[in-house]
Amino acid sequence: MRDVTDPPRLVVASANPHKVAEMGLVLKGLVVLEPRPIGVPDVVEDGDTLEANARLKAVAICKATGEAAVADDTGLEVDALGGAPGVHSARYAASNGSGAEGDAVANTTRLLQELGCIPRGRRTARFRTVALVRRPDGSEVVATGTVEGYIAETPVGDGGFGYDPVFVPVEGDGRTFAEMGDEKHAISHRGRAFRDLARRLVEI
Ligand code: IMP
Repeated sequence: MRDVTDPPRLVVASANPHKVAEMGLVLKGLVVLEPRPIGVPDVVEDGDTLEANARLKAVAICKATGEAAVADDTGLEVDALGGAPGVHSARYAASNGSGAEGDAVANTTRLLQELGCIPRGRRTARFRTVALVRRPDGSEVVATGTVEGYIAETPVGDGGFGYDPVFVPVEGDGRTFAEMGDEKHAISHRGRAFRDLARRLVEI
């Protein structure tokens, strides 16, 4: 029988190995993560907000397993582009036909093209993550994390994933997230969202 002091157990809704690895590092010792079950179909992430998309993913896994599930959704908000790509970050290149959905190189290429020669001072941006736990009784725990930064002129670094090679956090030393390795998690949107989520899970 589970002791109330045991760390919460959560089934991970994400199939993205980069995200799952980051989640595992941030939540180590705080939460026990169970892998996403094989054979559960992907949901269509057609919510209007990051929270709606995180909920779609967590609800699908919670229903399929009967266990509490955790999901996150992330967007990159670029001020000079009116907050785009935002909730559409994964399909930024797909939405103008320049690449497939989830193609990180095509997404960053489009981003750099849209920004063109805009000077550094006007390339400000932030990553925002919404992390959400959905329990079988319908209750939820939601947490948000952000990191401020700017978009580099060219991609630098081969670590991380997605838009990491073009994102320079202001709290860093001028390196992109793709140049940072595990240091990323101390200041990243996902690190912050999941640490806050873990705090809330033990409080509630
Ligand atoms: P989603 O949360 O998996 O839907 O991610 C939306 C988009 O943001 C995808 O294109 C991801 O590759 C990208 N993305 C998510 N998290 C990160 C991150 O930590 N760094 C860089 N790109 C990310």
